Amino acid sequence: MSIRRTKIREALDKDGDGAEMTLMGWVRNIRPQKNRTFIHLNDGSTIQHAQVVADPSLDNYEAVLRMGVGSSVAVQGRWVESAGRGQKSELIADRIVIVGEADAEKYPLQPKRHSFEFLREIAHLRTRTNTFGAVFRIRGALARATHDFFGDRGFVYVHSPILTGSDCEGAGEMFQVTTMDLAAVPKTPAGQVDFGRDFFGKQAGLTVSGQLEAELMALGLGDVYTFGPTFRAENSNTARHLSEFWMVEPEMAFCDLEDDIDLAEDYLRALVSDVLHHHEDDLAFLEKNVSKGLVAELERCVDRRFARVSYQDVLRIMESSGRRFEFPVTWGMDLQTEHERFLCEEHFKGPVVVYNYPKESKAFYMRVNDDDKTVAAMDVLLPRVGEIIGGSQREERYDVLERRMAEFGLSQDDYRWYLDTRRFGTVPHAGFGLGFGRAVQYATGMANIRDAVPFPRAPRNLEF
Ligand code: ATP
Ligand code: MN
Repeated sequence: MSIRRTKIREALDKDGDGAEMTLMGWVRNIRPQKNRTFIHLNDGSTIQHAQVVADPSLDNYEAVLRMGVGSSVAVQGRWVESAGRGQKSELIADRIVIVGEADAEKYPLQPKRHSFEFLREIAHLRTRTNTFGAVFRIRGALARATHDFFGDRGFVYVHSPILTGSDCEGAGEMFQVTTMDLAAVPKTPAGQVDFGRDFFGKQAGLTVSGQLEAELMALGLGDVYTFGPTFRAENSNTARHLSEFWMVEPEMAFCDLEDDIDLAEDYLRALVSDVLHHHEDDLAFLEKNVSKGLVAELERCVDRRFARVSYQDVLRIMESSGRRFEFPVTWGMDLQTEHERFLCEEHFKGPVVVYNYPKESKAFYMRVNDDDKTVAAMDVLLPRVGEIIGGSQREERYDVLERRMAEFGLSQDDYRWYLDTRRFGTVPHAGFGLGFGRAVQYATGMANIRDAVPFPRAPRNLEF
């Protein structure tokens, strides 16, 4: 549109001094009165609506009265002080162009409260609600805060590949990628699938993590981070797992586990304080309508150091708590949701970093500690969301890594390039992966990760 459009966010910052301006957006509400009609307009730039006053002198006043909630309009008028309560200023319309009409009867978003389950079914329209407007503005802000945080510290933003030929990034089930005709898959004489005749000449999949490649890059660039999509073909229908999710993965050369934990803590704090300082009105809405206590919790996260406790001590704390857990507390167990909640919500009442996990329960690339029982791994756990970050110091000693790979049954041939970085000028290095969707959950108070991403992908779920 050739007319200069003012974003509602900008307009609301201005005094109502009668200046000409044009607002464009979607109608959230229409209240016809005797001598005029009030229209609430939202354009996505802020959770606040602009009030538009339309009076019968408009040549299309009848059409304006008839248009439904959900219609898109361009309103040219004067921005003046509002006589009514509820807003400081309002737009007195001189001209209203109905850009795209919506049939109010059929429009799925009625001006009332809809359940998140219902809104997930109409995810193509839910960005027009207050809640999802707030969530996606905050999601965007967290992405920007991520680049600011790492950029300010001199990290190089690198892109790790999404298509991968190595299956063992260690993290989980991989989606396969193929161009073979599934109805006539080529077989070897021994009767196995002949991946040699597939597109890449070998078995291929979607990456479960960018870590291994980030390591290669860090061992030359120093400090790097990746921020991209990752995929897991696990059949888990939980409120915090998706089949496709974005991960932020910093990797640092000349760095040990403690430096890694320090970075994780600083980064999480930077994310949360960005939201607290720049998204007050979205947060206020979410606090009131979605998650009571959200703001206080985010403030606590920024104000206090995270608790740091070894896996061994976590077991002691849980054993002596007198609590009966559904999953028994024994050396080697994975921390389950109930354990994570107990630690964050009851015992430490805030974020917790657990480190030095039993080596059997963790991936081959994590550095073996001197006790030969544990590895230099860490997880950051948050109230409400549980594990948000998993990281470790990486095994930099060639011989130890070789031995670990053998224990895990990995072929050295497949990981020649990984081993090479230990063979030539190896250095201690460490990194972590943060689940971006879970960070959005934490910052917005959304209980389900499917409501923290625009178009969630999950088992039996691939709409839009
Ligand atoms: P979980 O135990 O919660 O399934 P994980 O230990 O398998 O996670 P990691 O391999 O450590 O996950 O991945 C790093 C981070 O990525 C996790 O701490 C988490 O924040 C996020 N993450 C992992 N799997 C998923 C998923 N399926 N959907 C969304 N985020 C995920
Ligand atoms: Mn993990």
